[in-house]
Amino acid sequence: MKYAVGVDLGGTGIKIALFTAEGEIVKSSEIKTRVEDGGKHILPDIANEIRSLLAEAGLSSEQILGVGVGVPGPVVDGRTVLSCVNLGWGETDVASYIEGELGLNCKIGNDANVAALGEAWKGASRDTHSSVMITIGTGIGGGVIIGGEIVTGFLGGGGEIGHAPIHPEVEGRVCGCGKVNCLELFASAPNVAANYLAVTGKEMSCEEIFNAAKAGEEAASKVVDDMQQLLGKACAFIGCVVNPEVFVIGGGVSQAGTFLTGKIQEYYDHYIFPSIKGARIILAELGNDAGVYGAAKLALDEWS
Ligand SMILES: [Zn+2]
Repeated sequence: MKYAVGVDLGGTGIKIALFTAEGEIVKSSEIKTRVEDGGKHILPDIANEIRSLLAEAGLSSEQILGVGVGVPGPVVDGRTVLSCVNLGWGETDVASYIEGELGLNCKIGNDANVAALGEAWKGASRDTHSSVMITIGTGIGGGVIIGGEIVTGFLGGGGEIGHAPIHPEVEGRVCGCGKVNCLELFASAPNVAANYLAVTGKEMSCEEIFNAAKAGEEAASKVVDDMQQLLGKACAFIGCVVNPEVFVIGGGVSQAGTFLTGKIQEYYDHYIFPSIKGARIILAELGNDAGVYGAAKLALDEWS
């Protein structure tokens, strides 16, 4: 039997899972991301945890086809991430470190892109021609998959849907990226809360606003509807470039289920170029595991 390792490196936690080549999880674990000291402990921690998992499973390195890693930053060549602000990393050659330390093949990808690949392999968009995943949480991430391949782009920025400049400027609002028109700046969870605060003067979390909207509260309904309209418009815009078979909506806000996606679909259908109408807006299925699935798939695509 052959296996692969998937690693999802996040700002607070690192998920690691051992997969069969068919995509079954054999063993998994999660460790804390130690961002102190410029993040220099992170790669040694990952290598140690992979060693322990393999030992627990009784596997030798000859049985491992490769290690895939999803990292929170732009990746150009499948080996090096240009920067990971959350981790305190500048340009870091993750693949060479893992290969040198463990003697295993390693390929890396941007975390949001890798999650999209995970959904396309074993989740909501499996067996589709093409998919675009939009992850809505604290920020908005994305990934574009065509013919089973991640579209990384020239500088690794493929799928950076959260920073698509599609909203008119609003005074006093600046995105983490420094720009003022980003989708994320108006449709991510904290920004939905900011939109509600601006209208009502009341502080509520995004989740509470969604619950209030479900209960029919007027201001909450309007704020949620505005968000869905913006997302529907973003999907219609992306549709004209990528023409995917499905859009997969994930992230914490997707807990709202079809209450979220139903209206995005309606707005998408309203805005989309008529000839390519028909893409489905669906909910992600793998939750927080999408990253490890996609990371393992990166390695399997390369070495199995
Ligand atoms: Zn931005």
